[in-house]
Amino acid sequence: STMPPLLSAIANAGRHGVLAKSAVVMERLGQTDTVALDKTGTLTEGAPRVTDTYALPGAGLTEEALLTLAAAAEHPSEHPLARAVVDAARERNLPLPDATAFTSAPGQGVSATVDGHVVQVGSPARLRPHVTGPARALVRELEGAGRTAVLVLRDGVPAGVIGVADRLRPDAAATVAALTGLTGRPPVLLTGDNEKAARHLAGQVGITDVRAGLLPQDKVAAVRQWESEGRTVLVVGDGVNDAPALAAAHSGIAMGKAGSDLALETADAVVVRDELATVPAVIALSRTARRLVT
Ligand code: ADP
Ligand code: MG
Repeated sequence: STMPPLLSAIANAGRHGVLAKSAVVMERLGQTDTVALDKTGTLTEGAPRVTDTYALPGAGLTEEALLTLAAAAEHPSEHPLARAVVDAARERNLPLPDATAFTSAPGQGVSATVDGHVVQVGSPARLRPHVTGPARALVRELEGAGRTAVLVLRDGVPAGVIGVADRLRPDAAATVAALTGLTGRPPVLLTGDNEKAARHLAGQVGITDVRAGLLPQDKVAAVRQWESEGRTVLVVGDGVNDAPALAAAHSGIAMGKAGSDLALETADAVVVRDELATVPAVIALSRTARRLVT
């Protein structure tokens, strides 16, 4: 055809299931020498499920009351962990009271008022002062099994621990191998989740460089550090917590299907087919197009 190479690269990317927002992106993707992958929703399917629900003696709640409180507080959140908790409550047919004063802190968790109680649901690492005694033992046990532990506080008192597990995408290992071949180094895992769960998953796909427990700004700092060393970074993510890093990197790709609106808006390109393997495919395409241009 007579289409200019970069425009035809956009069209080709579309055929591969990736929506590139500009011709410049198709030029930049090919320059990538360092790929940073988010965990939840990017390396994994992003549809985690509740595997364990433990009520702690301190707050004296039943398991169902615990799940009800947590799900009510999580209801307004679009985070995959929030959806897992809400789905678990729905499956048990638990009616959810309304939540007010909802706030969420990306990479940390949520807080809301439910039935007159302040309910916090989030990362044990971020709520560390509350993780003592039986809560600490439960968190350790869950994380040791590769799960994500979510702590529930009611009026500042630890009320329970919920275990959540996610599955690797079926094409995760093949994608990591393809990216390693294209860039000459394995991708790095950047995650807000705990180190044990992150390493557990990374080990299954051949990733050894794992940066865990990161807040959104820590993901940005990692990107800036590499770029200051002369690297050209591609960030692939799906969450609100990934948006700043998607913006900071030389290029950013968002996973479209379950991706948050902010990630989709911020990224330079969006995976619309919900296959991670489209990422190495568009990098390869971009390189072909660049050879035709220059
Ligand atoms: P990732 O980088 O793997 O996508 P996030 O940064 O989104 O992970 O989340 C990091 C951690 O913050 C989670 O593992 C969880 O402990 C906590 N967290 C974030 N949002 C929520 C939420 N809505 N409910 C419970 N925990 C949350
Ligand atoms: Mg994510």
